[in-house]
Amino acid sequence: MSERVTTLHGYKGYMGAMPSCNDVTDVTDVTHLAEATVAVCGESRAVPPLISTKRSAAPWLLLPLAAIACALALLFAFNPAESAFYPTCTFYWTTGLLCPGCGSLRAMHQLLHGHIAPAFRCNALLISGLPVAGWFAVRFAVRRLRGDNPRFTLPAHWMWMGLVILVAFAILRNLSGFRWLTP
Ligand SMILES: [Zn+2]
Repeated sequence: MSERVTTLHGYKGYMGAMPSCNDVTDVTDVTHLAEATVAVCGESRAVPPLISTKRSAAPWLLLPLAAIACALALLFAFNPAESAFYPTCTFYWTTGLLCPGCGSLRAMHQLLHGHIAPAFRCNALLISGLPVAGWFAVRFAVRRLRGDNPRFTLPAHWMWMGLVILVAFAILRNLSGFRWLTP
């Protein structure tokens, strides 16, 4: 017959029977289980290993990377300037004016082929912003791989500055004096 015992720290075990993992109700109980085991059996026994609660970093990273790789392969293989299946810009189609994103796909196609100047001509803002975006992406990925929980947060003045640059770029590339910003 087993007899229920209570250790100094409150773990309830059974005299004559080895406390089992089923008796463990939370992580802190593992310590108590070890004490109870010693108290009941008079010697140290193996303690169930702690199960890591950290999430694996691989799944969240693989999916977006695969999607980006597919998109880049498509852009590399098919020139948006010559292929009709790429989506057209709704803003340009309805107003006849260039938006800040116009020429992005053509810029990426040129960049993937190593043509920096034509890429810059198609969308100077995108090509200029890629190193900054890449730096943020790498920093985010490294933190996630370390097990942190990073968030995309920017100071307010950075966001305002980005918005001003975006609007200014959109206005300038529609002016006759800035044809070099036109794709
Ligand atoms: Zn557009």
